[in-house]
Amino acid sequence: MALLVQKYGGTSVGSPERINTVAKRVARSRAAGNDMVVVLSAMSGETDRLINLARSVNPEPPARELDVLLATGEQTTIALLSMALERDGVPARSYTGSQVHILTDNAHGKARILGIDDKRVRDDLKKGRVVVVAGFQGVDEEGNITTLGRGGSDTTAVAMAAALKADECQIYTDVDGVYTTDPRIVPEARRLDRVTVEEMLELASLGAKVLQIRSVEFAGKYKVPLRVLSSFEEGPGTLITYEEDEMEAPLISGIAFNRDEAKLTIRGVPDRPGIASHILEAIAKANINVDMIVQNVGADGTTDFTFTAHRADYKKAMDILRLVAGQLKAKEVVGDDKIVKISVIGVGMRSHAGIASRMFQTLADEGINIQMISTSEIKISVVVEEKYLELGVRALHSAFGLEKAAPNNAQRG
Ligand code: ASP
Ligand code: MG
Repeated sequence: MALLVQKYGGTSVGSPERINTVAKRVARSRAAGNDMVVVLSAMSGETDRLINLARSVNPEPPARELDVLLATGEQTTIALLSMALERDGVPARSYTGSQVHILTDNAHGKARILGIDDKRVRDDLKKGRVVVVAGFQGVDEEGNITTLGRGGSDTTAVAMAAALKADECQIYTDVDGVYTTDPRIVPEARRLDRVTVEEMLELASLGAKVLQIRSVEFAGKYKVPLRVLSSFEEGPGTLITYEEDEMEAPLISGIAFNRDEAKLTIRGVPDRPGIASHILEAIAKANINVDMIVQNVGADGTTDFTFTAHRADYKKAMDILRLVAGQLKAKEVVGDDKIVKISVIGVGMRSHAGIASRMFQTLADEGINIQMISTSEIKISVVVEEKYLELGVRALHSAFGLEKAAPNNAQRG
């Protein structure tokens, strides 16, 4: 007898019909002999609707009250699912985050889970009930309702699974797993049977928005067996794994990209200690997150300093940089907000040479100029002109043989 935590996202509970479908699936899993804990999102669009509702009353709603309001979205779906289960003769109990004591810090709108009191859930399971828990919410030490940030129901599910030592945490969503890249760009993109948690973190942070990134971090920390599956079609989905034999792993698991980048350069800054920190401190003070950073080798006592940031922060960052350039007596400030970042990701590259050169050659063959490069142990990222995004991703997907099933999806170097 296994203990399963299943999480259903907003589209999966977006209408009464779909809630019925979820009830049937949960009932089937239970009939197969599993103890069931179900975590739900609000109906799709509901959280946005509530945010707009709040703003129509107060353009800057107090964070505490916004959380009280937003938590109602999930409270609706858990009650409805429990009713559907009971109608079908399946005993069920719904609980809000505070009722099952998902204890968080008090950072409203982006609270972190500190602990879960699993007693109530275990008691219900012992009595043969399905336990239905509201995702995305918790309660702080003072009893205030908190929310975990957009997409936070994934994190609730993983945290529940960790607390209950569940046999598997299954995230049901509107895609049937994690793909080698976005199928809208590369129709040959393939569902991955397995992906390591490190790869998943890179894929998620680089725009493959299947799971909230915090849930993946959480799963990694507690080694929660995590699977992403479709709630609309049967299939094995994608399993997130923790120990991967690197020699067995595919060289490259996926190609991620980010369209929302902009690049800023400050030219001819004095090449002396403290300059990089001076520039980035000014940017950080304005709450702008910096992604890639490149400083060139100095010549004639000066150097060029380039970084990328979110496109939405481009204008603000340019203004700050111009100010800083004045202070530092730099030569000039230039920028470009028509750039994108493309990354190849794979734990297999740890033990294999030649990935970077194959990547750069592939882009060169397509006439794509690389503007910036950054690497980590399991990732190589390049910045290229926006108009080359599709071409670049397609060329790389095929160069690394990602359309073919592992393990022979890439010739080994
Ligand atoms: N309902 C919340 C949101 O839309 C949380 C979630 O769905 O995971 O972000
Ligand atoms: Mg989601």
